[in-house]
Amino acid sequence: MLRKTSLISVTVFFLVLLLGTYWNHLNQALFVKEQASLLRDVINTQATAIERLLNQTLLSTQMMAHEVRRSGGEPEDFPRRAEEILRDFPAVSSLQLVPAGVIRQIYPLPGNEAAMGLHLFNYPLASGPAKRARQDGVLTLNGPLELVQGGMGVVGYNPVFLHRGDGGESFWGFVSAVIDLERLLSVTDLEVLAGNGYFYELVRPDSDGVEYLVTAGGTREHPGTVQMLDVQVPNGRWILRMGRDLDEGYPGFLFGVLVSCMVALLIAWLVHYVLREPQRLRALVDSRTHELHQLAYHDFLTGLVNRRLLQEELEQALREQLRSGGPLALLYLDLDDFKRINDSMGHEVGDQLLVAVARRLRSQVRANDIVARLGGDEFAVVLLDSGSGEDLLRLAEKLINAIRQPVKLQNRELVISTSIGITVAPADGETASQLSRNADLALYASKRRGKNCIAFFDPAMQQEASRLMQLEEELRGALAGQQLELAYQPIVELTQGRPVAHEALIRWNHPRHGWLPPSEFIPAAEQSGLIVPLGYWVLEAVCAMLAASDAQGREPLPVAVNISPQQFRDKRFLKEVGRILKHSGAPPALLELEITETTLMDNLDATATILDELQRMGLRISIDDFGTGYSSLALLKQLPVDTLKIDRCFVHDLETEEGDRQIIQAVVAMAAKLDLDVIAEGVESEAQRQWLLAFGCRCGQGYLFGRPEIAARPHSGVGVTA
Ligand code: C2E
Ligand code: MG
Ligand code: MG
Repeated sequence: MLRKTSLISVTVFFLVLLLGTYWNHLNQALFVKEQASLLRDVINTQATAIERLLNQTLLSTQMMAHEVRRSGGEPEDFPRRAEEILRDFPAVSSLQLVPAGVIRQIYPLPGNEAAMGLHLFNYPLASGPAKRARQDGVLTLNGPLELVQGGMGVVGYNPVFLHRGDGGESFWGFVSAVIDLERLLSVTDLEVLAGNGYFYELVRPDSDGVEYLVTAGGTREHPGTVQMLDVQVPNGRWILRMGRDLDEGYPGFLFGVLVSCMVALLIAWLVHYVLREPQRLRALVDSRTHELHQLAYHDFLTGLVNRRLLQEELEQALREQLRSGGPLALLYLDLDDFKRINDSMGHEVGDQLLVAVARRLRSQVRANDIVARLGGDEFAVVLLDSGSGEDLLRLAEKLINAIRQPVKLQNRELVISTSIGITVAPADGETASQLSRNADLALYASKRRGKNCIAFFDPAMQQEASRLMQLEEELRGALAGQQLELAYQPIVELTQGRPVAHEALIRWNHPRHGWLPPSEFIPAAEQSGLIVPLGYWVLEAVCAMLAASDAQGREPLPVAVNISPQQFRDKRFLKEVGRILKHSGAPPALLELEITETTLMDNLDATATILDELQRMGLRISIDDFGTGYSSLALLKQLPVDTLKIDRCFVHDLETEEGDRQIIQAVVAMAAKLDLDVIAEGVESEAQRQWLLAFGCRCGQGYLFGRPEIAARPHSGVGVTA
C-alpha cells in the first residue's frame, strides 16, 4: 500500500514538473512575443519620429527655396533671412544657397568657409544625390557624409525651379541644409531606449545593397529579436533596426524550472499526505478496535480470556472436537479462602495474587489450550485433546501444585490452594452451556470435599443439584406456609441434670417427607440465601415465645439461637435483632446467639464490632462447635464471648480417645482462665457426664438429658412434648 502511495506521489511529482516546465516554456514564448510586439511599437514610433523630425527640419530648405523663388533667384539679405529661419530649426547647423550646383552663400559662414564654391555636381560625395534631386525635382537627402568643412552631417538638397516667361520652369539651383543628426535624434527616445537595454541602428542602403551606418546606440550582446523598419527620408530610404537584450526582461527559464520543481515537490508531498491519511486512520481504527476487543473479551486484570470469549471459544472448540473426535475437558478452578486474603491484606495484594495464579495456569497448559478468568477467584481451563481420565487427573494435580507454590507479595509468602471441577466432552455433554453447568457442579462438589480437591463431574451431581433446587423451591413455600417449627433441647447443669437453658433447633414438617432435620435443608437454604429470612423467622419465633412466657410470669430459661454465617454477615443483622427484640418485647438477657467458631474467625475486625454491639444490646454470645476452627486464646480474649460449646465430636469418643480428653481438659481450663462458661455438646452417656464433671465442665447438652422437642405451643412457652 505504501509503495502504491509512493508511486502515485512520484508520478504526480513528474506530472506537475512537466506541466510546470511546459507552462514556463509557454510563458517564455509569450514573453518573447510580447517583447516583439513591444519592439514593433517602439520601432514604429521611433521611425515615425525620425521621419517627422527630418521632414520638419528640412522645412527650413523649403522656406528658403520659397524666398529664392519669390526673389526670382536673387534672394535679398540671405544671412538675415537664414538666421530667422534657423531660429525655428535648431537641428539645422547651416543653410546654403547653391545656384547651379555651386555653393555661393552659407549661413552661418564661420567654420563653413571650406564649403564655399563647392560644385556639388562635381563633388563625388554629393553629385549622386544632387543630380537625383535636380532630376526628380524633389527634396533629396544625402549622407551622412564627411563634410568639406569638417565633421559628419546629413544634407538635404532642395532643388529650386524658377518660372520662365514661356510658362516653363528652369532649374535655378539648390537650397541645402546641413543637419546635425546628433541634435536631431536627441529629441527622439532612442538614447533613453538604449539605456533600457535596447540597441538601435539606423542605416542607409544604397542601390547596390551596401549599408552605410547613419547612427547606432545601445548594446547588442544577446538580442532576443531584432526588428527593422524603413524610414522614409526625402527621396530615399533609411532602415531602422532595433532589438532588445532578452536577459534584461525575462526571469529566466532555469528559475521557472526551479519554481516548478518546488511546486511539484509540494503537491507530490500533499498527495502523499492525503493518500496516507486514510491509511493512517484505518490503522488507528484497527488498533482501537483491537483494544476494544481486548477490553470486551479479555479480563482487565490478568489479560486472560473472559467469560464471554470463553463461551465463544468453547463452542468453537466443541465444533472442532466434533470433527476430530478427540476428548475435550473443561476445568473450573476456585481459589480456597481467597476472600480471606483479599479482606485481610487488601485488594491490591489480592489482585497481584490473581495475576500470579493466572500466569501459573497459563504456564502449565499448551499454547492452544484456553485459560480464562470467570470473575473473582474463579478460573477456567479448556483442554483440547485432553487425553484419558488419568492424564486429566495428572494435569489437574499439576495445576494444584503450581498454584500451591508460595507467592511472595509485600514481603510475605502467601500460599493459596485451589479446588477443581472437571467435565469432559462428549462423555458428559456436548454443548458449551451443558459443560459449563457440569464444571460448576463438579467444582461445587470438590469445594465441599475440602481444599485442594479435584472432582470429576458425575450425573449424580446433576440430580443432587436438581434436588437442591427443588428443595429450595419447597423451602420458600415452607417459610411462607408455616411448615417450619422449632424444637427445643435443654442445656443442663451436669451435676443434677437441671435445665439451665434451651437451644432452639429448626425442623421442617415437609408435606411429603415428614419431619426433616436441619442437615436436610440448611445447605440448600445457605446456597440460596434463604437462610437469612429463615434465621430471622427463628429469632422472631423465639423472641415471641420468650416475651409470652415473660408476660405470663413464668420466668423462662434463656434460649440459644443458631446464627448462620450469612446471617451474621448480613448488613441488616444488628438492626433486625434490635427491631425483633423491641417488637417482641423479649428480655435480651434471655437470648443467647450461637455463632460457629469459623464464622467468628472470618474477618475478625468486623466480628468484634458486631459482637460488641450485641453485647451492648444485652445479648449473650456463645461459640458453637468450638474446637473445629482455629481460634487462639489470644483471639478469644479480644471478643466479648460468654460461652464455649465444645463440639460433640470431642465428647463422642471421650471414653476411648485420650486426645479428645486432653482437648476438652484444655478448653475447660482455658475457659476458666478467660472466665467463660463451657457447655459440652452431644453428651449421650453417663460415663461422658462423669468424665466431663471430672474435667470441671459444669454444663452439657445431649440425648442423655433430653432430645430436641417440638414445642406444643411454641409461642406460649417451652411446653416440651415428646
Ligand atoms: P448445633 O447448633 O451444634 O446443634 C446441636 C445438634 O446436635 C443438633 O442437631 C442436636 O439435635 C444434636 N444433638 C444434641 N444432642 C445430641 C446427642 O447427644 N447426640 C447427637 N448425635 N446429636 C445431638 P440438629 O438439630 O440436627 O441441628 C444440626 C445443626 O443444624 C445445628 O448444630 C445447627 O448448626 C444447625 N441448626 C439447627 N437449627 C438451626 C437454626 O435455627 N438456624 C441455623 N442457622 N442453624 C440451625
Ligand atoms: Mg447450636
Ligand atoms: Mg454445636
